[in-house]
Amino acid sequence: MYVIGLTGGIGSGKSTVGEHFKQRGIDVIDADIAARRVVEKGTPALTNIANHFGIESLNGDGTLNRAYLRSRVFDNSEERQWLESLLHPLIHQWVKRALCSASSPYAILETPLLLETDQHNLTNRILVVDLPEELQIARAVDRDNNNIEQIRSIMNVQISRKERLSKADDILDNSGPLSYLSIAVSDLHHKYLKLAAEQESKDL
Ligand code: ADP
Repeated sequence: MYVIGLTGGIGSGKSTVGEHFKQRGIDVIDADIAARRVVEKGTPALTNIANHFGIESLNGDGTLNRAYLRSRVFDNSEERQWLESLLHPLIHQWVKRALCSASSPYAILETPLLLETDQHNLTNRILVVDLPEELQIARAVDRDNNNIEQIRSIMNVQISRKERLSKADDILDNSGPLSYLSIAVSDLHHKYLKLAAEQESKDL
């Protein structure tokens, strides 16, 4: 399967771009969904988390108490690392399985952590959704009703814009209107169909 890694900072437009690819019949695997699935009620990872962080990390109904967990790892890099070393391999495996069952001419892996984790090893090409930071913050604040500080603190743990752009094979400038985004996705879609077909003929 020819896989495009779709990434960008919070509020850059990954989900919006992912939707546009879906509308063109492309299977989009969402790493945020993987991150939720691997800690669903009854999973070994959730038991592990409860053993490590205590019973407060579970809600009354046995699901993960995300707010509590966030508060435990927010300012504690050791605990964050513990959690990441538990979850990242599980997310990686979940994504890998989902990509294996994709059936469109190519697949998209939509993930905020493509470049921060080894998820990029699952991809053939990297597409970065980009926009100036001020616009990124404004859109993220608008969407989540979060304050600027919360968005900035999330941005601070993500790779910098400059570094992200330096790893991109393709850059989608999402500072324009949605009509422009649609045209840009169409262009990329045709390019990826061609690249996937070339890859397939090489593999034969
Ligand atoms: P991400 O998944 O990268 O966090 P989203 O796709 O959710 O970002 O986009 C963030 C917000 O910006 C959403 O409310 C979305 O509707 C809006 N948005 C995305 N692209 C555009 C655009 N080109 N013009 C205006 N608003 C946009």
